[in-house]
Amino acid sequence: MSKSEANCLCGAVKIIAEEISPKFTVCHCKSCRAWGGAPFFAVQCGTKVEIEGNEKVKMYDSSSWASRGFCTECGTHLFFRFKESGEYNMPVGLFPNLEGLEMSMQYFSDQRPSYYCFANTTKEMTKAEIMTHFASQL
Ligand SMILES: [Zn+2]
Ligand SMILES: [Zn+2]
Repeated sequence: MSKSEANCLCGAVKIIAEEISPKFTVCHCKSCRAWGGAPFFAVQCGTKVEIEGNEKVKMYDSSSWASRGFCTECGTHLFFRFKESGEYNMPVGLFPNLEGLEMSMQYFSDQRPSYYCFANTTKEMTKAEIMTHFASQL
């Protein structure tokens, strides 16, 4: 767990996350790929997150259980936030100084299109496995 700071491309939004896990996850789901044009590489930031420039953050209600936030000036994707727990997942690329990063999980592995794959050896979960595993939280 480490503390780290991030800025959107234009600098209007600054994020300070107190507890980031260096074990990041990759999500291949259709929503994530449509959102960013590629799978979503996310670090878990918990709830100890401070956001400066909040008036430039627009939240999009992407599902019944989570919202996605982005900068209204430059469009940088800032976070995926679970409504129930308030926990943030943020793009790993936002944080320039994270150490010990390790790809630990690939979610929605069954929705990964055939035109790419990663050589990293990680755990994987299909949509069905995710729905079962997180049923209590969603
Ligand atoms: Zn911005
Ligand atoms: Zn996803």
